[in-house]
Amino acid sequence: MLLRDTSPSIAIIGAGLSGLCMAIKLKENGFSNFTLYEKAEDVGGTWRENTYPGVACDVPSHLYSFSFEPKADWSRVFSPGGEIQEYIQALTDKHGLRPHIRFGAKLTHAEWQDGGWSLGFADGNNARADYFISGMGGLHIPRYPDIPGAEQYKGTAFHTAKWNHEHDLTGKRVAVIGTAASAIQLIPEIVDKVARLDVYQRTPNWIMPRPFMEYSSRMKRLFTRLPLLEKLHRLQIYLMFEMRFPLFRHSRFFASHATKMFTKHLEKQVKSESLRKKMMPDYPIGCKRILASDSFFPAITREHVELITDGIERITETGITSKTGEHREVDTIIYATGFKPWDQMEDITIKGRGGLDMQDYLKDGIRAHRTVAMPGFPNHFMLLGPNSGLGHNSVIIMIEAQVRYILDLMKAARAHGSKTVEARDEAADAYDRQLQTDLEGTVWAGHCKSWYQGEDGRIYTLWPWGTRRYMREMKRANLAEYSLTD
Ligand SMILES: Cc1cc2nc3c(=O)[nH]c(=O)nc-3n(C[C@H](O)[C@H](O)[C@H](O)COP(=O)(O)OP(=O)(O)OC[C@H]3O[C@@H](n4cnc5c(N)ncnc54)[C@H](O)[C@@H]3O)c2cc1C
Repeated sequence: MLLRDTSPSIAIIGAGLSGLCMAIKLKENGFSNFTLYEKAEDVGGTWRENTYPGVACDVPSHLYSFSFEPKADWSRVFSPGGEIQEYIQALTDKHGLRPHIRFGAKLTHAEWQDGGWSLGFADGNNARADYFISGMGGLHIPRYPDIPGAEQYKGTAFHTAKWNHEHDLTGKRVAVIGTAASAIQLIPEIVDKVARLDVYQRTPNWIMPRPFMEYSSRMKRLFTRLPLLEKLHRLQIYLMFEMRFPLFRHSRFFASHATKMFTKHLEKQVKSESLRKKMMPDYPIGCKRILASDSFFPAITREHVELITDGIERITETGITSKTGEHREVDTIIYATGFKPWDQMEDITIKGRGGLDMQDYLKDGIRAHRTVAMPGFPNHFMLLGPNSGLGHNSVIIMIEAQVRYILDLMKAARAHGSKTVEARDEAADAYDRQLQTDLEGTVWAGHCKSWYQGEDGRIYTLWPWGTRRYMREMKRANLAEYSLTD
């Protein structure tokens, strides 16, 4: 007799760290009927897309890897992007996930119909699933600044996330627009190659020291032989990063300590007072992402490098004109201008119960109940969705907590014989109100403009507290906040 597989069908969108973590844990918990839909041709998400010179994680690798999938032989404290990508590919193979993945499948449409999700893809294919879990990530739609004339430029131009590996920068006159996370990794890597480098800075960043630290072969052997030692090392890093959190809630002690550290770092590496002045932030530390580099400031002090802070008036066929009217000809323009969080949702239509459009639901603010669910969208969950980003620690902690929480809900539905689980309106409203109140006490709610905030000023990206609180709150799902129906 053939036994019918009664486990619910689950569609996970995106094969980055979030989607893969969900898949691994579903499998471990006996939910074997799942498919990962990935628009690209490989796993990895962020770490597949970003291949610019110097790309690396700014969270130490032993913490920027799953707690259940440690890697004893990380080469450096802050490993390069390629090594993280290899880690992701290896864990995909180890957990036998490839047969579950459909590559080249870009979700364009999802609709709750007849007690399940109908999914439509750009290649014309369709699918049905009981659960629809989004691991689409927030940082992979490149943001290009709105600069007049950009389309007229006749040289080579590209974004750090779309690195042009065919284009040799040797001996070229290059402009880098932006001085944030990607730029400070990239600039020291290309500075020796180029003939001239113009760096366009809109806002200076708080940049902390970050020594280049490699793990010795002995250390890697010890981590391999003594897994507990690796775990303790991970815990040590976690506590060090977590300890910084009070800085984001206006701790004077931490702010003054961090400011002194930054000033010392800047003074040690940049002798020119006028250059130091240009690179001194005038907004509270932590308000934008705190960066770390030991090689960015020295690169900026090089003779053939110019830091331009006058603002860009326009881009011409041959170069860039700054607001002072000065025109600098360049062969290459590199946009290190970051990403548009949440914008991947713009070209996807998601319709919940009764045809409720997610864009309409989000008009009153980008939000999610417990950061993962939305009333009106049954059996739909998000990973690293609204308010689950961090300014001070590894998002892997958040992904693992969300996956545990979603599984807890799915297991509860299975135990109750319920086919649908949906966040209740009242619970979601109360949660959102509390979250917004909690965010008021953070530095991100200050006056500086950052990608943490939407156009409406609402902070929809970050969690307002430390990660221990998040893990505590997400340990078990409170079923009173959800309606479970047959
Ligand atoms: C340059 C860079 C450096 C970073 N450094 C750090 C760091 O140091 N520390 C840190 O904590 N975080 C860092 N981040 C944030 C990083 O994005 C997260 O840590 C993490 O990789 C997010 O994983 P994810 O799976 O949620 O999303 P992603 O890695 O973005 O993966 C999402 C996947 O979904 C796929 N997808 C999207 N839309 C669709 C669709 N419609 N249909 C099908 N598939 C789709 C994408 O192709 C992608 O593969 C960095 C981000 C960038 C861009």
